[in-house]
Amino acid sequence: MTTATHEETLGFQTEVKQLLHLMIHSLYSNREIFLRELISNAADACDKLRYQALDNDALYEGDSELRIEIEHDPKANTVTIRDNGIGMSRDEVISNLGTIARSGTAEFLKQLSGEQQKDARLIGQFGVGFYSGFIVADEVTVRTRRADLPHDAGVEWRSKGEGEFTIADIERAARGTEIVLHLKKDAKEFADDYRLKGLVRKYSDHIEVPVRMPTVDKDDDGNETHGWETVNEATALWARPKSEISDEEYKAFYKHVAHDFSDPLAWSHNKVEGKLEYTSLLYVPGRAPFDLYERDGARGLKLYVQRVFIMDDAEQFLPLYLRFIKGVIDTKDLSLNVSRELLQQDPQVEKLKSALTKRALDMLKKLAKDQEAYQTFWNTFGAVLKEGPGEDHANRDKIAGLLRFSTTHTDSSTQDQSLADYVSRMKEGQEKIYYIVADGFNAAKHSPHLEIFRKKGIEVLLLSDRIDEWLMSHLTEFDGKTFVDVAKGELDLGDIENEEEKKAQEETAKAKESLVKRVKEALGDHVQDVKVTHRLTDSPACVVLPEHEMGFQMRRIMEAAGQPLPEVKPILELNPDHALVSRLETAEGEGFTDLSRVLLDQAIIAEGGHLEDPADYVKRLNALLTA
Ligand code: ADP
Ligand code: MG
Repeated sequence: MTTATHEETLGFQTEVKQLLHLMIHSLYSNREIFLRELISNAADACDKLRYQALDNDALYEGDSELRIEIEHDPKANTVTIRDNGIGMSRDEVISNLGTIARSGTAEFLKQLSGEQQKDARLIGQFGVGFYSGFIVADEVTVRTRRADLPHDAGVEWRSKGEGEFTIADIERAARGTEIVLHLKKDAKEFADDYRLKGLVRKYSDHIEVPVRMPTVDKDDDGNETHGWETVNEATALWARPKSEISDEEYKAFYKHVAHDFSDPLAWSHNKVEGKLEYTSLLYVPGRAPFDLYERDGARGLKLYVQRVFIMDDAEQFLPLYLRFIKGVIDTKDLSLNVSRELLQQDPQVEKLKSALTKRALDMLKKLAKDQEAYQTFWNTFGAVLKEGPGEDHANRDKIAGLLRFSTTHTDSSTQDQSLADYVSRMKEGQEKIYYIVADGFNAAKHSPHLEIFRKKGIEVLLLSDRIDEWLMSHLTEFDGKTFVDVAKGELDLGDIENEEEKKAQEETAKAKESLVKRVKEALGDHVQDVKVTHRLTDSPACVVLPEHEMGFQMRRIMEAAGQPLPEVKPILELNPDHALVSRLETAEGEGFTDLSRVLLDQAIIAEGGHLEDPADYVKRLNALLTA
């Protein structure tokens, strides 16, 4: 045995301790994932070595045949996972296996629900895979040496997973890492050839590095020959012909690349030859990662150049609004020594990006045929896809086809109606697609602006996501029909209203001219204008913004963000058939002003707006109630 020197015992970071505690005490339901995690790390280590060896062949130390070996010893009750990948220096061991600097850890601990099943799913996703060894082991020993360091720079790391670990320098001829799991009493089942082989096939078939296990052959005379057998398929999954890949294999590969424990909703595997040469395998996840809305959250694809792993999270190959897509791009069109910086300048990257964007959008279009699956997708990622029309003008129409909305047709808060659905239900004579934006679903659904539309049976899209007003400012038309915000500008129902109706409206407007004038005087500079409206059937009044003004929802978002905005004054529209408006006609003096102001303020409140002077509103309302 080697002698260990420079031995020291260090405490784990608090978060690691919490995590270990969790691993050890609550993750029984899916213990076998430890093997997936450790093989995945070994494969990453081989990928890294291969990449670094591209410009430094010496790193191979004469052995460029990368491999992972799994051995077990039923007597000692151990399972060993070994690789001849990049290995780790002493400092790397301390920081990689003793502290988790990743922002993900704190997040991981926050999301823990106590439900074991769910927690187990989260493990890989947060980059805490190594510690999963402690699910089955009460002691873990790691021996490693980094590929560019001398033999005496080996490191041994030992821990019982109880708050501290011991680290020492050792002599180690073999490059790479070996992890010895000293199995817990109740985890002996894993020290079994058959069990281990099954798990390797289940989780690691798609890993390109061969995973080997020892074999013993006995001849007739009882002589034993020891050898190695490659257990996994050991070819990069995406490089194999589609027809030979089963759904199970696609799903297993997804879990590896996406660090997700649940199945993907869809995938698209393409091999392209010609002007561009690439293979892509893209997935739509079934659930959102914790950092979907974080600015610097991980996103993008795993990049390979001619089957050599180059980097994780290559974000240059898909637009931001498709950041939830996971997968692999393998291309011949980039050079092997490409870096993140170089990617930004390479014109090939733009071409690949636009090709992959099309692939991803086509995949979603296909997914949309399965309503239930698409609804899951939409509920999870819809709000992200809504960033699309603003970001990607070229694909605006395609994206529009993928959008789903709540509408007055169903009056349900589930966004499940497409624009094509809407168009197919349009009234005779209807030329526009009507929508309303409000702060919440109920505010939209009950907005006074919808009254005339409900009366006439015209469908209106009900929008209430934060991003919706921004979305609508970039969606100009669908299927040749323009979009109209029902709370802005003149109400124009086109040919839906007949000549008689229009004439009657004009007559009413004339008849109320003097009332309108009086209200306008009473309201002074609180309004831009006052009009008689036919939008309303139940409410006495509503406020409307000029057509090209920023909407109320966007204003509130910008104001909340501290953006200075120019003041806009609303247009007050009165319902001539409402009892309160009739009352207005007979009111005078102070009472007239009170009622005018109350109608205005109520209309603002119904819109979800804030009153500048709420106490004044209450005072006037009370004066009217007690009059
Ligand atoms: P992740 O794989 O998501 O980075 P892990 O907890 O699985 O998180 O591993 C933590 C880190 O430890 C890895 O990023 C890597 O730097 C290092 N590591 C783990 N296993 C190995 C290995 N077999 N060879 C080299 N480095 C490893
Ligand atoms: Mg890992």
